Amino acid sequence: MKYADGGLVATSSEVDYWQDQRPDIYAYVHQGVIWCDPDTGAPLDVCPFLQKSGQEGAYRYACGIYADRPQDCRSYPVSIDDMIRDDCEMIEVKDLRDYAKAQQTLDRLLDGSRPPLGSNTRPKALWQK
Ligand code: SF4
Repeated sequence: MKYADGGLVATSSEVDYWQDQRPDIYAYVHQGVIWCDPDTGAPLDVCPFLQKSGQEGAYRYACGIYADRPQDCRSYPVSIDDMIRDDCEMIEVKDLRDYAKAQQTLDRLLDGSRPPLGSNTRPKALWQK
């Protein structure tokens, strides 16, 4: 999975909030870039807040800062393409067989976090940034 690797962006208001209220998160911001090594400022390949549990073959993943995660994460995944590209473990064979239906289901699941893909206010897929 590629939850970090320089692909995430935070707004200045998010960074300001973390600086004021969540210094544990702000520690991973370097010159406005997320997520970076607190000691060196170097960009991290993997999000430091991604929590992994379970056993091999049945791992479960969770966000350690779910309530305060950046908007980029709230909007993700925008498209089934994003999920395929990122080797998302949530993608199923039936999604690949009926791409349009899978996208509709994804849009419905993320209703409230972002507009549906293809709407006038549609968010860009991560690869479009
Ligand atoms: S949702 Fe949470 S764990 Fe995933 S990339 Fe965003 S901050 Fe990291």
